[in-house]
Amino acid sequence: MNKKIVFALIIVGLLAISAVSAQNSLFLSNNDDSMYQVSLMQAFMHGEYDGVITVGDFKSHGDIGLGTFEGVNGEMIVLDGVVYQAASDGSINVMSDDEKIPFGTITNFDEDAKIDNITAKDFDDLTSQLDNEITKYGTNNMYVVKIKGDFSNITVRSVEKQEKPYQEFTDVAAVDQRVFNHTEQTGTIVAVYFPDYMNELNMHGWHLHFLSDDKTKGGHVLNLTGFKGSGQIDEIHEFNMILPTDDLFAKMNFTEDMTSKISSVE
Ligand SMILES: [Zn+2]
Repeated sequence: MNKKIVFALIIVGLLAISAVSAQNSLFLSNNDDSMYQVSLMQAFMHGEYDGVITVGDFKSHGDIGLGTFEGVNGEMIVLDGVVYQAASDGSINVMSDDEKIPFGTITNFDEDAKIDNITAKDFDDLTSQLDNEITKYGTNNMYVVKIKGDFSNITVRSVEKQEKPYQEFTDVAAVDQRVFNHTEQTGTIVAVYFPDYMNELNMHGWHLHFLSDDKTKGGHVLNLTGFKGSGQIDEIHEFNMILPTDDLFAKMNFTEDMTSKISSVE
């Protein structure tokens, strides 16, 4: 074949490939765009609270996320590469690298889109606005949204550390959930979204953890009122998961439909 024709065919081919990849993604995602998950929601719901990896290892997979610590020792918020614990006494602590994690999700945050000037009257209003926003890009992707601003009121929960034998999480939440109501807070919500088809692997829909700017208040968000602020969206297309290696997990029975139990503790 004539060299010019070969060259032209290569160029046409490259243009076709770039056109296809531009259609496949609305954003220019970088190579770090991967969600890393420790264990699965179903195992956690069944009482798998032993640590799977250390905080140090977990941090090597990202700088933003949420989860909990060995024995459900409070709520985890990862922000700007720091792993915070919202403890059951209401305090916020920076966790050391040798603490262990039984369940959590983390990614490297890169801003793919912005949401300016959000005002939300309550939790449902905020999450439905987030739904509207991601519907533009597709609800079958995963997302992490960093939401910053002022809250008239924010209600968060944390959970008291459990001792063995561990109970199912619905039983733990019924007895050892501590709820805190804070007024006039400035801070960040880390909102993680998993699509419906990932239900039971994680919580489908939105899962929100809060940390105040002064790093004194935080936890799993149950409710909020009077929010004013903005958001940054990270769209994610890749998922990595590490499983527990113990006997409890290996022989766990996953036939039960956990959907209603999972939504009862969200
Ligand atoms: Zn949570």
